Amino acid sequence: MPTPLEIKGFNKYSLIEYPGKISAVIFLPRCNFRCPFCQNPDLVLNYKNLPSISGQEVINYLSLNKKWIDALSISGGEPTLCEDLSSFIKEVKERGFLIQLETNGTNPQMLKELLEKKLIDYVALDIKAPLNWEKYKKVSGISIKEKILFEKVKESIKILLNGEVNYEFRTTLVPVLLSQEDIINLAGQIKGAKKYVLQQFVSQKTLNKDYEKIAPYPKEKLEIIKERIKKYFQTCEIRGV
Ligand code: SF4
Repeated sequence: MPTPLEIKGFNKYSLIEYPGKISAVIFLPRCNFRCPFCQNPDLVLNYKNLPSISGQEVINYLSLNKKWIDALSISGGEPTLCEDLSSFIKEVKERGFLIQLETNGTNPQMLKELLEKKLIDYVALDIKAPLNWEKYKKVSGISIKEKILFEKVKESIKILLNGEVNYEFRTTLVPVLLSQEDIINLAGQIKGAKKYVLQQFVSQKTLNKDYEKIAPYPKEKLEIIKERIKKYFQTCEIRGV
């Protein structure tokens, strides 16, 4: 269910979130996925106990620091579950900031609306797994009743592939969930994309505590995968190693 905008985390300064820009980052609560390796479990499961920051506070901070902050990155949780997102973004954009949206792709309708209104400048869409239901279900932690979410992710991918906004697709490479062949399959399914990022898995503070015992892929393995898939994309990079 869509809900009002509640900001549950605020990073005032980041050089790594929005490619090539200095951004502030906000974190919105709730998520319709339950990825076992999620690094923000409090935002997904325990958000009611987190203190809230008002949208006005964020806007005031951005306005005061406009000289050196280029952008606002909107992360989560899943930000598109907040029904007030569009009006908040509009207020920020009116003050001259670029907007980055980080999403799991389950709300193509909102994505389309935001793009049509030219409210987003950069989209980072997490593609959790190759685009087949059995795999996606496992990696995103959803059930058969939520299969519609998988269909919506595919819609969002198409919107970005066929649109004009700058974007990146990205996948977290968790060894027990995704093999090298899985990533090669996925890369083939999204070939032609502007940018694809292989994200290193971090085995700390995960939603499912069992994942804290899993060792990430070594850097060399990620390099091998990248070499095999980079031909499909304008840009292909590894992040987090
Ligand atoms: S990693 Fe998964 S569960 Fe965590 S916020 Fe992202 S989509 Fe939601």
